[in-house]
Amino acid sequence: MRTPTRIRTLVGVQCVHPNLPPTCKIKTDNLLGYYNNGIILESTKPMIEIRDLSKQYGKVQALGGVSLDVEKGELFAYLGPNGAGKTTTIRILTGLTRHDGGAAKLNGMDIAKEPREAKKQFGLVPQQLNLDADLTVRENLFIHGLLYNMPRSEINRRIDELLEYMDLTDRGGSLAKTLSGGLKRRVVIARAMVHSPAILFLDEPTVGLDPNIRRRIWALIKKIQADGATIFLTTHYIEEAEFLARRVAFIDEGKIVTIDSPANLTSRLGGWAVDRLEDDRLTTEFFEAREKAVAYTLDQADGCTIRRVNLEDAFIAMTGKKI
Ligand code: ATP
Repeated sequence: MRTPTRIRTLVGVQCVHPNLPPTCKIKTDNLLGYYNNGIILESTKPMIEIRDLSKQYGKVQALGGVSLDVEKGELFAYLGPNGAGKTTTIRILTGLTRHDGGAAKLNGMDIAKEPREAKKQFGLVPQQLNLDADLTVRENLFIHGLLYNMPRSEINRRIDELLEYMDLTDRGGSLAKTLSGGLKRRVVIARAMVHSPAILFLDEPTVGLDPNIRRRIWALIKKIQADGATIFLTTHYIEEAEFLARRVAFIDEGKIVTIDSPANLTSRLGGWAVDRLEDDRLTTEFFEAREKAVAYTLDQADGCTIRRVNLEDAFIAMTGKKI
């Protein structure tokens, strides 16, 4: 829907317009809000705005015109197979790689026109556990605070707060190289939060971790989001996106395939799936009700498994590929 100019007003302002239904979500270039019988109840600017972003590496089109918005306080997952363009998107947004076309804003700051301000808006948790191995946990966090020109007393106060928040208080004096993978990951997340950024970019935050540790990191990510951070997460773990995200973007070959909630994406296929193995070939049938799935398996020879539909099914249905 094209929103009329008159709607570009402040929260609480009366702005009845004949073209709008009594209650709806409204969206313009600079406003995202909720309209209820003539009054804007709530309005937020997207924390991440990406418009038509493109990037070419030689002959490879890593990104081919990506557009999306992430709202304040949202946990948004960017899900796609290897080489889909997830890391390239994060590298561009965080100033590590230049884009060829399009634009992006972080908390309203244009990454090309206001790069210094844009950089203050986020913390980055990269795929690699790139801590200084011979420094302690505290020292790793302290250096990060210095890079953001924070006063020393403020850095120390923030480190105490973060170590407690991350359940790392007794590890402050440990050398980074002595930590397990899961602990290192927590320290890398803490480091990204030293300067209290509004946005956190998490690039494959649980890659290489065992399932128990992965679940602990998920709980931590949920807590950080519940405390107000906007989180942009790339992953190719289906369960990670399903468990954490309010909305998921499927990306494939540098293009957004769809953006929706995990529940909407999976419900398009019905709630239940039956996997059937026949002559070493796996086929999957989808059903709206479990009873129908059960009835189908009764008609088949052995080798059927009933399960809930997941995001991988949705991705395969839309792209013909596995994540
Ligand atoms: P993964 O899940 O494996 O990390 P990804 O979705 O993050 O994959 P990208 O790393 O963004 O994907 O890569 C997108 C495409 O761009 C791939 O084809 C990749 O080979 C290519 N690419 C990425 N970085 C470079 C680079 N520095 N030079 C050349 N090609 C690159």
